[in-house]
Amino acid sequence: MIELQHVGKSYGDKTIIADLSFTVERGAFCAVIGPSGSGKSTSLRLINRLIDLTSGTIRVGGEDIMSLPPEQLRRRIGYAIQSVGLFPHWTIEDNIATVPRLLKWSEAKVKQRVEELFALLQLDPATTRLKYPHQLSGGQQQRIGVARALAADPDILLMDEPFGALDPLTRQSLRTELARIHKATGKTILLVTHDIDEALELGDVIAILRDGKLVQFGTPADILAKPANDFVRDFMGGASLGLKLLSLGHVRDHLRPDAAEGIAVPADAPLTEALSQMVLRRTDRLPVKDTNGKPAGSIFLSDLVG
Ligand code: ADP
Ligand code: MG
Repeated sequence: MIELQHVGKSYGDKTIIADLSFTVERGAFCAVIGPSGSGKSTSLRLINRLIDLTSGTIRVGGEDIMSLPPEQLRRRIGYAIQSVGLFPHWTIEDNIATVPRLLKWSEAKVKQRVEELFALLQLDPATTRLKYPHQLSGGQQQRIGVARALAADPDILLMDEPFGALDPLTRQSLRTELARIHKATGKTILLVTHDIDEALELGDVIAILRDGKLVQFGTPADILAKPANDFVRDFMGGASLGLKLLSLGHVRDHLRPDAAEGIAVPADAPLTEALSQMVLRRTDRLPVKDTNGKPAGSIFLSDLVG
């Protein structure tokens, strides 16, 4: 669990973060979004004490971060950033093992953990282990950055635009991977992203910052259905808000037993896919198939807004 209570950060007389309060429950995935300069990175750095609070309280797993030595705190918190920050003259294996070795784990335990992380991040140890960062693609380097953040098995993961500089396909695949890792490990994750769709796809909850203040905190569906103000509405997509809301729902939750003609849509497809097919085929109903390709019923246009 991560709790921010009335958190403030100033540099001289310049206030960067003002009275910021929100709680990310244990095991939840919180996406942090907001315009450039709104204080997203500063918030993350406050949590792992790379910088000091001016006012307020931050608790991690129930403990006030000021009551722990910073090194001890950072062992409990994995941190991954856009620029990756891999050590260029260290092999991939040594990069991943940085924190476990700082913690003086036995070499056998370190090796075992590195193996696990290669498997978790779906990297091939045989071709990757002894390479140097510059010999890997950008996407692979980002994976190693995430692996290193996870190495000492921290309860909490802070990620600051970790997939920022990647092409859309690599981004999507790392996004899917991160969702899988979250499911598999149950870690509490705070992810800063400038990609609204990434926030909607990954976040159990979303925190929206503007000028160092929290403008809205809630589930993706809450925020899309009830944006707190015009800023949130525009920031989340303005005219396409309804489509984004539709994309959160799935065909399987709107099935009817009636028959329909044509090529079936998968039951686990987002509702936007059903709408898109209806528009393309000029029809108001589509057959639906289950994951085995068997008929599962149909979906009606009128149910998309129901
Ligand atoms: P974001 O990650 O949302 O883009 P940041 O948290 O990096 O925003 O920065 C928020 C604001 O704080 C920006 O206006 C930035 O210029 C300012 N800022 C960040 N670090 C410092 C610093 N060390 N001294 C003064 N101002 C800073
Ligand atoms: Mg930033």
